[in-house]
Amino acid sequence: MPELPEVETVVRELRAQVLNYRITHAELLRADLLKNLGCDATDFAAFFAGGTFISVERQGKYLLFTLDHGSRLLAHLGMTGKFIVAGEKDPPPKWLCSQYHFKGGLRLDHVDVRRFGRLEIHPKGADIPVLKRLGIDPLSKAFNAKALPTLVLSRAGNKRRTRAIHTLLLDQSLIAGVGNIYAAEALFRAGIRPTRQAGKITKAELERLAKSIQTVLKEAVKAGGTTISDYRRVDDKPGGFRIRLRVYSREGELCRICGKTVKRVVLGGRSAYYCPLCQK
Ligand SMILES: [Zn+2]
Repeated sequence: MPELPEVETVVRELRAQVLNYRITHAELLRADLLKNLGCDATDFAAFFAGGTFISVERQGKYLLFTLDHGSRLLAHLGMTGKFIVAGEKDPPPKWLCSQYHFKGGLRLDHVDVRRFGRLEIHPKGADIPVLKRLGIDPLSKAFNAKALPTLVLSRAGNKRRTRAIHTLLLDQSLIAGVGNIYAAEALFRAGIRPTRQAGKITKAELERLAKSIQTVLKEAVKAGGTTISDYRRVDDKPGGFRIRLRVYSREGELCRICGKTVKRVVLGGRSAYYCPLCQK
């Protein structure tokens, strides 16, 4: 599933390629992806007609497009969603869910094989509830040295203390954008086992973990994200971070630091990977 670095990559590339072109028409081909109650493909087409995207931002794992008239399109890539920039003459891709045609022959194809993604259209000034529920962005200034210890160890964090740290990192209402890949990689770099109870981790370890989260996310953004299976950049090419993964998806392989066998454990229904020697 695309996480912060993958979504950030897509957002940056879209920003460079689709802003400020007039949208001649947009089509919704898979109505089940549009989560606005009572809206259909006709409403969707009318929403975009004649507009232009003036910005694309990332919030957690969401993409937020703003149109020149102030209304916004929210998109989530789910498991297999992609935004691919194409030319009007390119053949339509398989699994097309929505499509945006721009003046000048540019086209944006939104593809999603498994359709766990979502689209929402919002008029100017409207609140977007799913964004209000997101926690701190780990690449923002708010994610400072105190942020993670506060989330885990403060009185408000009481209920969180008994959870495994890996599970806690995946909670989007606490930290927005970290998923399975980067939780595993950050915990490895911080030397903390994914199974550790959050409340039993020291303040110093949590501060180290926060730094590891930021470092690994920044490195992955630089590499264009991690492609395990479906994730693609907007030119349909894979991200370059996979070869730099130290534990994620490497069960049974050797730790690149100590040579021990990387293990996998299931926590809260999700796979967590770790090195039994490097992580305590
Ligand atoms: Zn190791």
